[in-house]
Amino acid sequence: MQIQIKGLTKTYQTEGKVVRALNNINLTIDANTIFTLLGPSGCGKTTLLRAIVGLENADEGEIIIGDEIVWSSEKNIFIPPEKRGLGMVFQTYAIWPHMNVFDNVGYPLQNQNLPKEEIKQRVAETLKLVQLEGFENRPATKLSGGQQQRVALARALVAKPKVILFDEPLSNLDAKLREDTRKELRSFLNGLGITAIYVTHDRIEALALSDVIAVMRAGKIVEKGAPKKIYFNPDSAFVADFIGRANLIEGTITEHDGEFATIHTAIGDIRGLNSHHLPIGNNALICIRPEFIHLAHAQKEGDTNLFKGVMENLVFIGEAYEGDIKINDTLLTTTIEPTEDIQAGSEIFISFAPQYCFIIEA
Ligand code: ADP
Ligand code: MG
Repeated sequence: MQIQIKGLTKTYQTEGKVVRALNNINLTIDANTIFTLLGPSGCGKTTLLRAIVGLENADEGEIIIGDEIVWSSEKNIFIPPEKRGLGMVFQTYAIWPHMNVFDNVGYPLQNQNLPKEEIKQRVAETLKLVQLEGFENRPATKLSGGQQQRVALARALVAKPKVILFDEPLSNLDAKLREDTRKELRSFLNGLGITAIYVTHDRIEALALSDVIAVMRAGKIVEKGAPKKIYFNPDSAFVADFIGRANLIEGTITEHDGEFATIHTAIGDIRGLNSHHLPIGNNALICIRPEFIHLAHAQKEGDTNLFKGVMENLVFIGEAYEGDIKINDTLLTTTIEPTEDIQAGSEIFISFAPQYCFIIEA
């Protein structure tokens, strides 16, 4: 089911302060995709999700699910949450501790006047889907965090929603379980073949789970695209920095040919992608991600993106070395293969491929 959001605006007033939680959001979420809203805390993700679900009324705009307008300020339409055909999983699992698994999962079906047998069957099917087969009589309090999370997922799915929405559902799990669940969730959602809207502030979750990521900042969508596009060649310094680790160096564009440009910086000339076609003379930033910096053997200084520097702040973290390479007065953060023989304070050559560096507006 496709979702369209048009001109959605929501303002909160608290203690005399006005907060624009949603600032003219326009968005199309294609059917059967895993769509993620990614952004820092307070940027409006939950507000947007709650508006789609119908738990929150925006001030202005329109929300269309499939071909039904479910909310419109202008046309004065409000379809209540339970009639929107959506399932939702919250940050806190919001499962009821005094109920067993069966009652928790079957709850959304209770008001539908379904025969008891059918409810039983549907709950059993859904529990199987989330790999909690046979857990019906288990008290909710006797479940692990991961199991509670799956009960919440089952409850969101039991009424066979057209769209499922998640608000930071993994943030209460410990790191290891979060990693495992992230993987499971991706293949699980792909298998369901429904539209999923997923809210998170965790860039790795967003990259790992999504078909499409929309990055939010201060009530606005600042960029929308496939994970690799957003990672390898984002439109702004904000997105570059939010979606991954980023060395951002200022400079002036001195040469511009087709896809690439040369930017003159404090460490010298750097070549990178110039997808936004910034012209010669423009001040700009070049972004070099730590993982694309490699140790190089000196060919001759002056080769494309080959620099000499001093290794500083070197730490060994098992899977890699992390450190800063000091070139003139600029520090470039980098990760280096753990098998390299490298010492803090040593002079090294580094290089990075122009197609993995990108030039963005300063
Ligand atoms: P996120 O989910 O991205 O962390 P929210 O949508 O929860 O962000 O909040 C967006 C902004 O709106 C924040 O500045 C938050 O403080 C404010 N806000 C959210 N809900 C309310 C509310 N009920 N009353 C007043 N301000 C709110
Ligand atoms: Mg939130």
